[in-house]
Amino acid sequence: MAAPKHWRTALERVEKFLSETYFTDCNLRGRLFGDRCPPASLSYFQTPRRIPYDEAVRQEFKLAQVGDSFGPTWETCWFKVELSIPPAWAGREVHFVWESDGEGMVWRDAQPVQGLTKEGEKTSYILTSSMKETEPHRWVVWGAWHCLKPRGWDHTSLSVSWSSEKLFRDSACSSGPTTGRRMDFPICLPVICCLMVCCWSPQPHTAELVVFNRDVYELLVDLEILLDMAQLLGEENQRSSQALCAANQMVNVCDVTDPSTFPAARALAAAIFSQRNGESQHSIHAMGHCHIDSAWLWPYEETIRKCARSWVTVVRLMERNPELTFACSQAQQFEWVRSWYPGLYEQIQDFVAKGQFIPVGGTWVEMDGNLPSGESMVRQFLQGQRFFQQQFGRVCSEFWLPDTFGYSAQLPQLMQGCGIRRFLTQKLSWNLVNSFPHHTFFWEGIDGSRVLTHFPPGDSYGMHGRVEEMLKTVKNNKDKGRVNHSAFLFGFGDGGGGPTQKMLDRMKRMSDTDGLPRVQISTPDQLFSALEKESSQLYTWVGELFLELHNGTYTSQAQIKKGNRECERILHDVEVLSALAMAQDCGFQYPASQLQRLWRLLLLNQFHDVLPGSCIQLVVEDALEYYAEIRRVGAGLQQEAVQSLCRELLEPEAGNAGSTLVLNTLPWERTEVISRAGAAGTETLVLVTVPSMGYAVVREPLLSPQPVVVRKREDGSIAMENGVIAACLDVMGRLTSLQLLDSQRESVPDGCCANQFALFDDVPLYWDAWDVMDYYLETRKPVTTLLKPLEITLAGGLRGSVSFSLQIGKSSTLTQEIILDATCPYLRFLTQVEWKEAHKFLKVEFPVQVRSTNATYEIQFGHLQRPTHWNTSWDWARFEVWAHKWLDLSEHGFGVTLLNDCKYGASAHGNILSLSLLRAPKSPDATADMGHHQFTYAVMPHLGSFQDAGVIQHAYSLNCPLHTVPTRSAPSPPWSAFSVSSPAVVLETVKQAEDRPGAIVVRLYEAHGSTVIAWLQTSLPVEEAILCDLLERPVGAERLQLEQQGLRLSFTPFRVLSLLLILRQ
Ligand SMILES: [Zn+2]
Repeated sequence: MAAPKHWRTALERVEKFLSETYFTDCNLRGRLFGDRCPPASLSYFQTPRRIPYDEAVRQEFKLAQVGDSFGPTWETCWFKVELSIPPAWAGREVHFVWESDGEGMVWRDAQPVQGLTKEGEKTSYILTSSMKETEPHRWVVWGAWHCLKPRGWDHTSLSVSWSSEKLFRDSACSSGPTTGRRMDFPICLPVICCLMVCCWSPQPHTAELVVFNRDVYELLVDLEILLDMAQLLGEENQRSSQALCAANQMVNVCDVTDPSTFPAARALAAAIFSQRNGESQHSIHAMGHCHIDSAWLWPYEETIRKCARSWVTVVRLMERNPELTFACSQAQQFEWVRSWYPGLYEQIQDFVAKGQFIPVGGTWVEMDGNLPSGESMVRQFLQGQRFFQQQFGRVCSEFWLPDTFGYSAQLPQLMQGCGIRRFLTQKLSWNLVNSFPHHTFFWEGIDGSRVLTHFPPGDSYGMHGRVEEMLKTVKNNKDKGRVNHSAFLFGFGDGGGGPTQKMLDRMKRMSDTDGLPRVQISTPDQLFSALEKESSQLYTWVGELFLELHNGTYTSQAQIKKGNRECERILHDVEVLSALAMAQDCGFQYPASQLQRLWRLLLLNQFHDVLPGSCIQLVVEDALEYYAEIRRVGAGLQQEAVQSLCRELLEPEAGNAGSTLVLNTLPWERTEVISRAGAAGTETLVLVTVPSMGYAVVREPLLSPQPVVVRKREDGSIAMENGVIAACLDVMGRLTSLQLLDSQRESVPDGCCANQFALFDDVPLYWDAWDVMDYYLETRKPVTTLLKPLEITLAGGLRGSVSFSLQIGKSSTLTQEIILDATCPYLRFLTQVEWKEAHKFLKVEFPVQVRSTNATYEIQFGHLQRPTHWNTSWDWARFEVWAHKWLDLSEHGFGVTLLNDCKYGASAHGNILSLSLLRAPKSPDATADMGHHQFTYAVMPHLGSFQDAGVIQHAYSLNCPLHTVPTRSAPSPPWSAFSVSSPAVVLETVKQAEDRPGAIVVRLYEAHGSTVIAWLQTSLPVEEAILCDLLERPVGAERLQLEQQGLRLSFTPFRVLSLLLILRQ
């Protein structure tokens, strides 16, 4: 073998031999395809709807030509292509090549058979791998395509899907032109392509029949790998030179016009690939993958087709490559394909049974990892795992969330409770400031639960099986000395159709080649099992996995956030009331299937580009429609449950005066001011006390121990107090003082104003709806343009209120009503905004007289602390964070809490608590957040700790108003279904058990961060109580003792407990 004299010229010589641009007249690449011939005919039918194949093939098709444009955006174009294979191609591999901007699908016998997309390197449909004389030579191809906005949505992508059907085959055959070029026994393969056209009309660039030279292809793959090895291992590396030497010699022996010279060239490559590694080499576990966003730059409906196009391509690839594995998440997507593409679904089921198509993740969708409530996260797993169990006979053993914008510190416990001890993601590689220190580690949640966590060290979930990625996977791995296995997810996502044959062919050559890591096609289970064996040296990361990017997603698309919070509350209330109704009246039908439907809509909207607000307007419209449906149907279900639960109380009795039935779905007694309907549509305020998870009939309202007093001062400022707190507000509605009356403790520092609105410039570097950058903080402008000065709107008594209006920016306005109720320890701010800004961020700030280096934020089933200083890069990178219903800043003995009813973005810097209210990003939805908004937040000063002050309970109460129903019933004692003896324990959920009608599941959690014994008391006819996991499977055989005081439950900090309560029939 002649060694090349010059490293660089030899390298470039090989490059030119493979080039798609240079010397294609005489190089190897130019020989990949042989003869070509155009389609016999091409015709199309265009529609704005996403119609099924059966309907499409009945339409009238018009003539089209390669190069024609179709549009506008979101239209679907179906194509019928007639193909005729020249007889001279006998014995050859024949492809139909379709290139255009977008995605599509080929169908055969009314079943989808192959997805096509140029972006995903899938432009060939293999008509035959060796054309036989007796084989049909005429084909009719149908296709439909539409324009999508893919990642980097400034260009068009086209998707093609094809179908063939007997009916069509016959008619197409008889009507097709016949010429001497065609064989005598023509056969038609109808293929239907659907095309959706984006901002500009995509054109089919190529539609032709070609002879595919597989021997040339194999040689190209060999040479590409050798060239990559030569280039990427570097000139000084022995293997680089060996690879280059082999490649150079291959070019020498290879006569591109004479395929008989190819085997000798291939033997040279094989000699290099078969030189094996030593025992220490790193092991890469490659798994096919195709990340499909359930909605993002396309609506939900299009995702259904994306799944079908991608998965059918995977199935075809599996037929040719029995070793191929494919990890596939999101039960919702399986469910879509099950109902829309049953034929394809059956094939998928077969490959699941074979262990190749591997359901992973265990959740309904790949949800946002920060904003869904604790119960929502449980339901993601409950709906997901139950689906996988029912459909495929097993639950998933790993949580799979590669693309979500941060991960709550509660997730490890929730995974464990759902049968999952392993977790895979990679998103933290997107951190803007700090590089996460591990790729394989134990992740420990707020309760101490630990899960084995792996980030594929290549920092991607869409690899292509290239040498470069293999080397990066090894080099980048931060736990090199501790573990020697890592994951490698390959395939094009989001419509790219997943893995390709070429990726597999590359990795086959690299399976064990000296100088490169070992590569094996593997499964998540094999990977994690290998990691578990090596886990003794692994580090543990405690607390949240915070993504230092995309922090605007806690605030963007405020209506979606509000819909999420409100619908979580609605489903909570419907479940509580329906479960109580069922327990009290065995004739009541618990609305299990309706609730499952509504939950699934809510869970779908929690997808990681919908709830975060990083989607297009079409998706926002769908999401808001789903929320509207949950509100509408939920209201009906709630009414039915209340009617059943309180039937006797709602039956009017003659002679009884009007009274009000008040229902409380929260697990503690509440004394609150409510508004009740009086005669002739009037509303009157009353103070009521309602027992824990129960109801009371209110006839005579309670007398307020101390009325609310509202006084205007000469300077226009207003003082409000209710015997608990006293507030002073200036004419712009800013708090100049907020005192706890008992202790005279002041919350607002001298010279400061709380409830101060501030507007910031909000121009991120790239991801508009996603990102808020640190430099926005330098552009703070306090809102100080008064439209309507503060005035008294309710003079006091049970409720006092004041209101004012401000101008924000150039054209937005804000009106606020500040409300103080009798006995209430917090001041409420009911806010209306007409929002018309561009790239602005509205926040409200509360400087407080508290000194602490940490603030506390509510998360799922608990809370955590984050620093209030910017000491280190890890601290300041959290300049914008998320919280659920409250955040608190406390020093010993005193603190101030901000509560909210639908906001998630927050921060605490120094002594300033801020709530993020509205953003105005323009991409990917130019109309994002424009228009009317209504939201409520509240400020609550407190003595002692926030735990002792009942902050957690008050935040629930703010979010879950008491329900009132007018009645004329006879007097009746209050009734409580459940109560808990310890204020540290929250009874969050009461629902019917999934598999046992007549049984109730209750879920409680320890909310203070303490070890505590709590008694759960119930007035329901409970016969038996069993501890269960989050999937409602009994844990252990032990029954809980039902004692006089109730059920004795033992909690450690933030522990979530579920119980199955079997009711007496
Ligand atoms: Zn995604």
